[in-house]
Amino acid sequence: MYIEYRNGVVVVLEKHRLFFDHANVRGDGLRLVSHAHSDHTPTRLYSDTVMTPETREIASVVRPLLGEPNLKRINEIIRMDSVKIKLLNAGHVLGSSQFFVESSYGSMLYTGDINTYDTVISKHADIIESDVLVVEATYGSPSYSFPPREEVYGGIVRWILECIKNGQIPAFKTYSIGKSQEIIKLINSATKLPVVTGPTVSKVCEVYGRCGIRLDFIPAKKREGMEVLNRGECVYVDSVRGTLPVEKPVKWALATGWALKYRFNNYDRAFPLSSHADFRGIVDFIQQVNPRKVYTIHGYTETLAKELRKRGVDAIPLD
Ligand SMILES: [Zn+2]
Repeated sequence: MYIEYRNGVVVVLEKHRLFFDHANVRGDGLRLVSHAHSDHTPTRLYSDTVMTPETREIASVVRPLLGEPNLKRINEIIRMDSVKIKLLNAGHVLGSSQFFVESSYGSMLYTGDINTYDTVISKHADIIESDVLVVEATYGSPSYSFPPREEVYGGIVRWILECIKNGQIPAFKTYSIGKSQEIIKLINSATKLPVVTGPTVSKVCEVYGRCGIRLDFIPAKKREGMEVLNRGECVYVDSVRGTLPVEKPVKWALATGWALKYRFNNYDRAFPLSSHADFRGIVDFIQQVNPRKVYTIHGYTETLAKELRKRGVDAIPLD
């Protein structure tokens, strides 16, 4: 097996080439796309581009996609001669998948972005034993240890209620894919407040709804959305921070794992809510996968590899 990082992970197995999250790669091979975030999804899709139907749906409402991919569901298997590839849940956003590859070289797991914790809207990443592991290292430094999710959820709900009590509109700027829907689901289950959404967040929420995840939200572009905003007893969720045409004061919060380390002075609050695993989550995950070789990609690749070597795991950064 040959592996390298070239704008994405490239793996060569016998006569087959596998491209993982490789933006608009040219050449023959199977293109495996783990999820709909734009740094992982190409804009040109081919019959040998593999992704879940949810990833296709979400990606296409966020930006125009050309071509039709080969749609595979979580737990489906692709066979090419003696190579077998299974899609596994990654727990990161709707439709996100890991790829588990078995061949005459043994097994390899490519995680893409993973969340190793359950959320109000998703199940934690599947775990499977594998000889080789290619794992993301976004928060792969011991300085990133997220508080229990229930604690973060509690902080978000308390802040929302406090804003409402003070006559302010609580607003969240957060990723349109994944995090927005988690926050909306949390507000739907913990409060009776209506949620008004910005344009991209609304489109992604509609895809979640079509895929069976019910979210109560009102797009701001609808007359009802503006009326609710003007009344003021609501929460606003958007992927960009703009000026809302309302009289009541608006308080802005961020929801990001980076809130653990950085100060966001232009925001009233920042909550450490992430769709990725933190350091402990990644290390626990790796120990359960029990690989003989680990390649780290994205983020704290050097730090995570070093921490793994300290724990007796053979690990090196790939990018
Ligand atoms: Zn992602």
